[in-house]
Amino acid sequence: MRKKIVAGNWKMNKNLHECILLADDIRAGLEPLPKNQLPTVILAPAFPFLYAVSQTLGVNQSITTSAQNCSSEKSGAYTGEVSVDMIRSTGAKYVIIGHSERRSLFLETEDSIRKKLMVCLEAELAPILCIGEKSEERKEARHFEVVKKQIDSATGNLSPEILSKLVIAYEPVWAIGTGVHASPAQAQEMQAFIRQSFAQSKGMEFSQTLPILYGGSCNPGNAKELFSCKDVDGGLIGGASLNASDFLSIIKAAMDL
Ligand code: PEP
Repeated sequence: MRKKIVAGNWKMNKNLHECILLADDIRAGLEPLPKNQLPTVILAPAFPFLYAVSQTLGVNQSITTSAQNCSSEKSGAYTGEVSVDMIRSTGAKYVIIGHSERRSLFLETEDSIRKKLMVCLEAELAPILCIGEKSEERKEARHFEVVKKQIDSATGNLSPEILSKLVIAYEPVWAIGTGVHASPAQAQEMQAFIRQSFAQSKGMEFSQTLPILYGGSCNPGNAKELFSCKDVDGGLIGGASLNASDFLSIIKAAMDL
């Protein structure tokens, strides 16, 4: 059985002090919960706070940190960029790659997303690869085609062994930050399709162990229903991860499923 994952993408929110408080509240909120039922919990603060949040969480099997992005270059004269080695040295274990905000606002291409995925894997960081269709693409019934293309351009030709740390986050762009979430049926349909695509390209064993998260306006009210779907292995949470009690409720929704 795949272990559930609940990841909070804090985006460009909260200062150092607020990040530490939020991380500590979440850590403390997890303490009384049965360890064997906890999902893997991941917190993704902005770069300057990754080390402090990692330190606040301490060495803990159930909760860890992620960067929200990384450079596609390993080191050198790239002013303003942050490398995977730098990220790893903060204690982070994951990197979110190809978030729709990075694709649309920072014009990230499929090529740069693939490069980022590669440097992450080489640095033994687990990439959380975000994929998902825009509203008009779903209206035109091109959502499967779009998602398949995103999968193939990021992971085509990479072996299952190389991709062993991969996590997928299906995030329909029309659901991100809009308050409109995919219905459980829509999430399940797409996530089964994603798993099936990986089964064809990387084999059954790989596809059956691959964690596929849902992201897009997930909140304490809809998390349980979404996470109960067969191919939904947890969530990537934006807005609702900024409040400890909401995020803890979402984590609890991932338990015992
Ligand atoms: C996200 O940005 O990854 C996300 C899922 O945001 P929200 O939960 O706010 O829709």
